[in-house]
Amino acid sequence: PKPLATRIAFVTGGASGIGKAIATRLAAEGACVAVADLDEAKAQAAAAEIGGPDVAVGIAANVADEAAVQAALAATVLAFGGVDIVVNNAGLSLSRSLFDTTEADWDLQHDVMAKGSFLVAKHFAQALVDQGLGGDVIYISSKNSVFAGPNNIAYSAAKADQAHQVRLLAAELGPHGIKVNGINPDGVVRGSGIFAGGWGANRAAVYGVPEEKLGEFYAQRTLLGREVLPEHVANAAYALCTGDFSHTTGLHVPVDAGVAAA
Ligand code: NAD
Repeated sequence: PKPLATRIAFVTGGASGIGKAIATRLAAEGACVAVADLDEAKAQAAAAEIGGPDVAVGIAANVADEAAVQAALAATVLAFGGVDIVVNNAGLSLSRSLFDTTEADWDLQHDVMAKGSFLVAKHFAQALVDQGLGGDVIYISSKNSVFAGPNNIAYSAAKADQAHQVRLLAAELGPHGIKVNGINPDGVVRGSGIFAGGWGANRAAVYGVPEEKLGEFYAQRTLLGREVLPEHVANAAYALCTGDFSHTTGLHVPVDAGVAAA
């Protein structure tokens, strides 16, 4: 691949948590980053923290809206002249059980994470194909795409959809030199808007631990006994974009400090 210092990255949900950590890391390695998020002010504030307008720009984009995704692509190309790395990170969790999940809940989870990442992949991969220089598409899926847990049926099903998109797109985009890989994080409590916005309270109730101890609780049940932070997910995203992973596509990298088999 082109050296990271010459590459342009587009990160959805880049104004907070894992997405912001990924945008920050890629910029620190010399890439230009377009930070896309629902709220324009939040996206621009995150971009300004990462660097000046020659390094990072903030773009308002609801990934569930095809016209907004197309406008975000145009804004990225206008700012930096192209795109090389696409990170499908935007997400939310309604944290509801089967019986509490409404049709609208199901639709929102799938609109943002399954349809949204499809729309981003479709339009941004077209730009990668047209450029003819290869590229990277990275999905921030979840451990929940594989393992079952309580109170998150719509979230987990949408994450599993994303995980299969990785396999399908690796096959379809491979002939264009475009790698498509996924990252499955788990237990990123500190720094996550999803955890702060209700998921944490839900998980604390499910596991019977105080919410302020949730990070420690997650750490203790990992094989490594370590807490996972947004920066650790960003390290994996960065690694996947380097030449060291030039021959890896269709992979799902767990960033969860290890999950016990039983
Ligand atoms: P976060 O809330 O800090 O970040 C998510 C960002 O996505 C927010 O800035 C939000 O505004 C944005 N977003 C939501 N809907 C959007 C839309 N329609 N269009 C554009 N942007 C939108 O949460 P996070 O924990 O950093 O989560 C990032 C990703 O990582 C999510 O996809 C999440 O499911 C996944 N994930 C997180 C964990 C974890 O432990 N925190 C574990 C597994 C997977």
